Amino acid sequence: MTFTLFPDARAALARDSLAGLSVGDALGSQFFVPGRHPADVAAGRLPPPPWQWTDDTEMACSVVAELAEHGDVDADRLALAFAQRCEPYRGYGPGAVTILRLIRTGTPWPVAAASAFDGQGSCGNGAAMRVGPLGAWYADSTAKAAARARASAEVTHAHAEGIAGAVAVAVAASLAARARLDGDRPDPARLLAAVAAALDPAAEVARGVRRAAGLLGRPLAEAVDGLGNGSRVTAQDTVAFTLWVAATHLADYPAAVRACVEAGGDVDTTAAIVGSVVAAYTGVGTPGGVPDGWLAAREPLPEWVR
Ligand SMILES: [Mg+2]
Repeated sequence: MTFTLFPDARAALARDSLAGLSVGDALGSQFFVPGRHPADVAAGRLPPPPWQWTDDTEMACSVVAELAEHGDVDADRLALAFAQRCEPYRGYGPGAVTILRLIRTGTPWPVAAASAFDGQGSCGNGAAMRVGPLGAWYADSTAKAAARARASAEVTHAHAEGIAGAVAVAVAASLAARARLDGDRPDPARLLAAVAAALDPAAEVARGVRRAAGLLGRPLAEAVDGLGNGSRVTAQDTVAFTLWVAATHLADYPAAVRACVEAGGDVDTTAAIVGSVVAAYTGVGTPGGVPDGWLAAREPLPEWVR
């Protein structure tokens, strides 16, 4: 079925996804502070505010600002926005800082992105962690979500797995937002099957998503064993796990983020990705949505995206 999705509706879906992404990032990053324990969140004890967001949110804000202003992502403009807004203290990986510095000082992004990691390009999570709101923006077309996710990924991630990670997350967020518009919760297995179908079947990320589908209904620890938890900071070791969590807890944002905290690993990034997909479905301040109190505890977003 085709339908018209007006710009305001796209923007609202993308902003809800960004809220979920940034709150997940900010709360997740609290668990790298000594003395914080995952059990506290499970017991409902939250860290004292403000929760500072990290690179995941900073880059996602550039994606949302680009969409809000231009209705699409232009690779050259997006690359420059990432580069100019990068505050390295926000937890960027050394590879990302290098690529963004090259772009900022005039190296064309295809050259900068291809030069990373001895010419293999990055297969890190940078492209996946910032793309959820773009998927929500394209709630009317998973094909468009996938194509524009690829364009947004390539400016920093030349490795096929880094790009596949972004495509997978964008398609999941697109389906989540579409389900919200349709008022029906997608079956977790069908959600993961649709994501896998959008990927090159030979990609490791695609194999991971298919494995994730086979682990639905299993305990969290088993999913971590089979899929990873982001501790290797690659898309291969992160994205399938995050989509398992998102599919499992699609109607319950707090439960989804708690699962990321409990799983450990690269928690700010896993919670950012999961939060971006789940909030595209639940919204903010709704039953099962991003709790208002959590949103208030998150450091405010940069002025240029508000
Ligand atoms: Mg981060």
